[in-house]
Amino acid sequence: MTDADLLQSLGIDPARLEPAPPGAACGGAGIERLRGRHPCARCGHSSTVAGTVDIPGHGRRWVGRCMPCLIATTPRGTPRVPLEATLATIREAAREAGAMITIVTDTA
Ligand SMILES: [Zn+2]
Repeated sequence: MTDADLLQSLGIDPARLEPAPPGAACGGAGIERLRGRHPCARCGHSSTVAGTVDIPGHGRRWVGRCMPCLIATTPRGTPRVPLEATLATIREAAREAGAMITIVTDTA
């Protein structure tokens, strides 16, 4: 995920973010930033993670996120097994338990 992708997923205009010093992606500057109690860029609650993005035309900017928003906007990659294999395992477990289940997915 690029910095631009991150901001798009958060629905943030980079112009709204405060400028960050060069090279302040993490470490001491990020910890110091969290002491300032800045709001999460996504939901407005207190941020627990301070990061930066570097957007052409805007330079390096701070992006603080709370933990739920960090989790919601962190790419997880692709599944390790095909969806159909996971569904087959769930169906088998339900059959063994004698449970009637309905699985709804958003894939074809
Ligand atoms: Zn948040």
